Amino acid sequence: MDMQLQQDLTGQVALVTGSGSGIGKDIAQTFARAGAAVGIADINKEAAQQTVNLIEAAGGKALAIEMDVTSESAVNKGVNELVKHFGSIDILVSNAGVQIIAPIDKMDFKDWQKMLAIHLDGAFLTTKAALKHMYDSPKVGTVIYMGSVHSHDASLYKAPYVTAKHGLLGLCRVLAKEGAEHNVRSHVICPGFVKTPLVEKQIPEQAKEKGITEEEVVNDIMLVNTVDKEFTKVSDIAQLALFLAAFPTNVFTGQSIVASHGWFMN
Ligand code: NAD
Repeated sequence: MDMQLQQDLTGQVALVTGSGSGIGKDIAQTFARAGAAVGIADINKEAAQQTVNLIEAAGGKALAIEMDVTSESAVNKGVNELVKHFGSIDILVSNAGVQIIAPIDKMDFKDWQKMLAIHLDGAFLTTKAALKHMYDSPKVGTVIYMGSVHSHDASLYKAPYVTAKHGLLGLCRVLAKEGAEHNVRSHVICPGFVKTPLVEKQIPEQAKEKGITEEEVVNDIMLVNTVDKEFTKVSDIAQLALFLAAFPTNVFTGQSIVASHGWFMN
């Protein structure tokens, strides 16, 4: 039987963490355009509200949720707020993230802990809070983790980031197995470099660290292994997230999907 590609999220409720900026913001807007009601969770309340304003101005439904994903009480409160407001949580995009760059021998333990807390504790806490509702729901639940090419490969000076992004693959795979009987599936999206504030900040930092120009950081480091010297775009990642969230079967559960202009192929 032929299967129609679905791009429709009407009647679904999504929570996107870190959606006050960058990739998360574009995913939230894309989901809202596809008909979902979207919780805009961010540690930066003003940024979250700005994303809500954009979605509402375009006729969509959204709710700003101030949330530090490393705080269990803040995560539980935010997820409950979303469910109270829109009636369910059907899609979670665990996307909030930061970057701290230093060689291992110079990396502060506090920075290591902060990175693992945001990327891994945040993914666990939001997943656990969402599953409480998804497991009780007759609808399909989808959890998407924002991984990275660094879920599969390593780069200099990014030990905690690479460690955390690899860790998300493990969480996703366990959830695929545990979630199956409850109609919950999981995915990791692994972008190459996307020009967002997180990356814009790294360009001068890496130039200083390595004693090279910013142009050299972009061409000789960030995009050096792509097939076409192109940045991945927020819209590429948002379209992929929509494809996965709207997909009618479990065929991609447990899977990571790399979107990197050929930088990393698996
Ligand atoms: P960004 O800096 O534009 O946005 C990140 C958002 O997360 C910000 O709004 C920030 O306020 C929020 N945030 C940070 N800490 C938080 C916390 N503790 N709780 C809640 N929100 C918090 O960054 P981005 O580039 O859009 O990155 C989003 C995700 O994509 C991250 O997980 C990042 O690792 C991943 N990623 C980015 C790239 C890239 O090249 N930009 C590539 C691969 C993966």
